[in-house]
Amino acid sequence: VIRLENLGKTFVAGDGPVLQGLDLSIQRGQFVALLGASGSGKTTLLNVVAGLEDPTEGSVSAPAQGAAMMFQDAGLFPWLTAGKNVELALELAGIPKADRADRVQELLELVRLPQVADKRPHELSGGMRQRVGLARALAQEREVLLMDEPFSALDAITRDLLQDEVLRIWEVTGRTIVFITHNVSEAVHLGQRVLLLSSRPGRIVQEWDTGPWKDPDSYGFEASGQSREE
Ligand code: ATP
Repeated sequence: VIRLENLGKTFVAGDGPVLQGLDLSIQRGQFVALLGASGSGKTTLLNVVAGLEDPTEGSVSAPAQGAAMMFQDAGLFPWLTAGKNVELALELAGIPKADRADRVQELLELVRLPQVADKRPHELSGGMRQRVGLARALAQEREVLLMDEPFSALDAITRDLLQDEVLRIWEVTGRTIVFITHNVSEAVHLGQRVLLLSSRPGRIVQEWDTGPWKDPDSYGFEASGQSREE
C-alpha cells in the first residue's frame, strides 16, 4: 500500500539531502515503527509519504497520499467540542450528515471516551486529547494512518496505556500504521516491523521483524514501559 523508490528530499534552504536513496515497501495492514535520531528526517519522510511535501528524487505510490496523520500535539480545534472535532473530519471524509452523530459516538467509544463528546479540549487531559485526536484521524476513513510521535509529550503510564490502545485499534480496524518514534522501547513494543532511519542522509539502514503480532493483553502492565529499555 506504500511503496517508496529511491526517494530523496533536499530542502532548498537546507544543507544537503535529508533523505537519499530510500527504498521502502509496506504491505496493507502492517504496523511499522520507524525509529531514528532527532533530526534524521522522520517527520520529513512522513510528510513526503502523506503528500504534504514533494520528494526531490524518486517516487511515492499513490495510495499513501492523503493518509490520515496524527501528531505529538493532537491539534484539536480548541473552540470545538471533542465530538465536533471528530464530526468535522467525518464531514470532510464525505460521510452524510444523518450518519455522523452515531459515527462520532462509535469512534469515541472505540478510543474508550464515550462521555466526552460535549467537552472542549482544554477540559480534557493530555492523554484524552490524544485519544480524541486518534478518533479524529480514524474518522478520515483512510487506509493509512501516519503517527508522528503522538505520545511523546505524555507521562510514562499514560503512554503505556495508549500504546496498548493503539495496538487494539489496529487489530479492530485493520489500518496500515506507520508510527514514528525516537524511543526504542516504544518502537519494539508497537512495531510488527521496526525500521531504523540513518541521519544525513536518511535511509533505512536496519530492519527488524518482531514476528507475528501479539495480543496486547499478553504484554502485562509490569512488563511494559521502562523495563523494556534494558
Ligand atoms: P525530530 O525527531 O527532532 O522531530 P526528525 O527526525 O523528525 O526530527 P525532521 O523534522 O524530518 O527530523 O528534520 C530533518 C532535517 O531536515 C533537519 O536537519 C531539519 O533541519 C531539516 N528540515 C526539515 N524541514 C525543513 C525545511 N522546511 N527547510 C529546511 N530544512 C528542513
